[in-house]
Amino acid sequence: MVWQFYAYRRHKARLAKPNSAHLALAEYTRQNPEKIFTITQNVDGLSSRAGHLETNLVAMHGDLWSLKCEKYNCDFVEKNLKDPIVPALAVSDKEFPDDEAVPTIPNGELPHCPKCNGLLRPAVVFFNEQLPGLIIPSVLITCRISYGHRAGVVI
Ligand SMILES: [Zn+2]
Repeated sequence: MVWQFYAYRRHKARLAKPNSAHLALAEYTRQNPEKIFTITQNVDGLSSRAGHLETNLVAMHGDLWSLKCEKYNCDFVEKNLKDPIVPALAVSDKEFPDDEAVPTIPNGELPHCPKCNGLLRPAVVFFNEQLPGLIIPSVLITCRISYGHRAGVVI
């Protein structure tokens, strides 16, 4: 059911468009890359789609468009913009169903890691998971050392 939930979120995020705030912040950052750094809690990828400089953007909760292997000792990560990722995760435009109405998908029909054949998962922080261990220190270091006194934006 987790994969169906995230396949639905990816599908809806794909239909969304960056709003005027995403576009304005992306444009301002492109014009002033030395002055601004953005930390987003959003996983929808709309800042990137607005043209935000990736070097000036950290998605601290990950993004729906990256997949990673669930096996602890495997480092496979990929960008994946397919919708659906696999046929079994095709989403209708109806609202996400209640828990009882979500059909079970056989494990073999879910996306698998090409490196170790483990299950892939969205590279986002799930509910009750901790942020990746190095994300907060890397954000602080980036803001303090790399960007010094320059402006930061958290969205
Ligand atoms: Zn793997």
